[in-house]
Amino acid sequence: MTKHKNFSPNIDAGWGLIYRLNSLWGQVDPKAVSGDYDGWNFVLDRIYCNLLYSNDMIVKRIYQCEQGHKFSTFEKKSECPQCRKSTAAKSNVKLIEIQTIELSDEDEMIYKFLTKKIKDAVNSKMKAMNKIKDKGPLNKIKSLEESKEEHYRALMMKDIWLRKFMQDLRLYLKVSSSDPSNALFGGGA
Ligand SMILES: [Zn+2]
Repeated sequence: MTKHKNFSPNIDAGWGLIYRLNSLWGQVDPKAVSGDYDGWNFVLDRIYCNLLYSNDMIVKRIYQCEQGHKFSTFEKKSECPQCRKSTAAKSNVKLIEIQTIELSDEDEMIYKFLTKKIKDAVNSKMKAMNKIKDKGPLNKIKSLEESKEEHYRALMMKDIWLRKFMQDLRLYLKVSSSDPSNALFGGGA
């Protein structure tokens, strides 16, 4: 498996956050499989909140060393790698800026978009269930099957989108020796 990048956890994110997220992910599959769509959505929201609002949120840091070199990193640094490379001398660095970039405005918009899609699907499911009562001439209500399908697909999208974050940010824990990438993409195929 070379298509997936580095799966060692991003320790800089903080173990508390990593454990919390992985324990939430452990609740996702049972809910999805059992058809508990509301529960599924609820856990996905919890994951999103943990990614977004956690105090341990992953930050991109910008440092500047005594020689004036600026560099950005996701890790906490105490010395300048450039000085170390060129002169082997230790040059202390100062944190000059924190940028939180992983969850951008665009991510926020995608989250809202997906959440709305799920809500719309729930609404059309409700309408479909009340369809018999609705005798209006302009009956454009989707079938129950159709709206159930839509609901499932919207949740899937949100699920996949959040999993992508987990991967990109290297927040998955390795469970025993199994490769999470296998677990992610259909179990050892
Ligand atoms: Zn330097």
